[in-house]
Amino acid sequence: MRIIEYEGLRLFSEAGIPTPRFSVVDEPERAVEAAKHIGLPVVLKAQVLVGGRGKAGGVRLVETIEDVRSVASRLLGSEIRGEKVRKLIVAEAVKHSKELYLSIIVDRASNRHLILSSMMGGVDVEELLKNHPEALIKVPIDPLTGLREWHTRKLAAHLNLSTNTSIQLQDIVRKLYNIYTQYCCDLAEINPLALTENEKFVALDAKIIVDDNAVRIKGFRFAEETGAESEAERLGLNYVELDGDIGVVCNGAGLTMATMDLIHTLGGRPGCFLDLGGGASSERVFTALKFLLNRPHIKLVFLNVLGGITRCDEVAEGIVRAFDEFGGSKKMVVRLVGTREEEGKRILESRNIEYYTRMLEAAEAAVKQAAKPI
Ligand code: ADP
Ligand code: MG
Repeated sequence: MRIIEYEGLRLFSEAGIPTPRFSVVDEPERAVEAAKHIGLPVVLKAQVLVGGRGKAGGVRLVETIEDVRSVASRLLGSEIRGEKVRKLIVAEAVKHSKELYLSIIVDRASNRHLILSSMMGGVDVEELLKNHPEALIKVPIDPLTGLREWHTRKLAAHLNLSTNTSIQLQDIVRKLYNIYTQYCCDLAEINPLALTENEKFVALDAKIIVDDNAVRIKGFRFAEETGAESEAERLGLNYVELDGDIGVVCNGAGLTMATMDLIHTLGGRPGCFLDLGGGASSERVFTALKFLLNRPHIKLVFLNVLGGITRCDEVAEGIVRAFDEFGGSKKMVVRLVGTREEEGKRILESRNIEYYTRMLEAAEAAVKQAAKPI
C-alpha cells in the first residue's frame, strides 16, 4: 500500500526528520487561509498517488494570494494521470540549492535492505542516474544485524558531505530506517531531500510503500488513500493497476495471470489484474465491472470466467446489469464456461451480448478490438 504524501510527511515529522511546514486542504478558501498562516511563497501539491506528479503539473510554486486561490481551484477536482485530486498540501516553499535522493528498499535478490542515495535527485532522478550510474551509492543492510553507524558513515563519505551536513544526513538515514522497519516498508523514499543555502536538510517529498500483508496483520491505519488500488480494496476487489489498456477480470489468481500472459503474447497490454475470487455473486461481478469501466486508462474490459464454484448465470447477470448501466461506454469481451454455462449463455443471448467459450479466441478478439481506435 502506498501512503499518501501528507501522511508520509507526518511520519517523517514525528520521527524528527525535518519537513516544510504544511497544511492539508480540500477547498480553495482553506488553501488561502493556510497560505496566509504559513507565509508566501507556498507550494501547492496535489495529493495523488500516481508517479511523476510534479511533471504533470501537480506541484506549483505560488507567490500571491490570488494565485493560491486560482491554482488551488484549478487543481482541486482536476485529474492527474487519471487520478482525481481531492486534497492539496499547502507547504512552505523551501529555498534550496541542492536536491539529493535518499531511499531504503527491500532488495529481494540479496535478501537485504538497501539504502540508495545520490547527490543528484529531484523530478528527473531516473534520467539523471541512467546517465550517471556512478552517482548512486548503494549500502546493503543485513536485516538480522540492522543499521550500524559504519553504514551511515560510508554513505555520507561517498556523498562527499561537510562534517555538519554529514551528521545531519546520518541522523535522517537512521530515522528513515526506523520508519522503514517499524512499518514493514517495501520502500521509504525522500526525493528530493533538499539542502538549503545555510546547509540544512529538509525532506520535500515522501514516498512510502508499506507491505500489504503487514497492513492487514499489524492493522496499520493510514489517512484515507485516493489511489485506485485502495478504492478497489475498499470494494473488496483484488486489484493491481498496470499501464496497459485492457482490463483483465477473471476468477482466480492463476487464471488472471494466465490471461494477462496470453494478452501480452498476442501483442495486447493488460491494464490491470482483477481477480473476482471464487463463487463471485452477480453483485460482485457488477461492482468489479463498474469499477473498471470507470478507470480512465481502461479501453476494453476482458472478462474471462471459468466457472467451478463460480456460477455462470450469476456472472451473466452481473454483466447484464453492467451493460444496462454503462452499455456502450466501453467495449467488453466476455468468455464464459463452466458451472451453469447454459443458463449463463441464455441470459447473455437474451440481451444480445456476444460471448466466447474458447479462451484463445476471446483473447484474440479482445486484443484486436483494443487496437482499434475508439
Ligand atoms: P513529485 O515527486 O511527485 O513530482 P515533489 O514533491 O518531489 O513531487 O515535488 C517536485 C519538485 O518540486 C521537487 O523536486 C522540488 O524541486 C519542488 N518542491 C516540492 N516541494 C517543495 C517545497 N516545499 N519547497 C520548494 N520546492 C518544492
Ligand atoms: Mg518527488
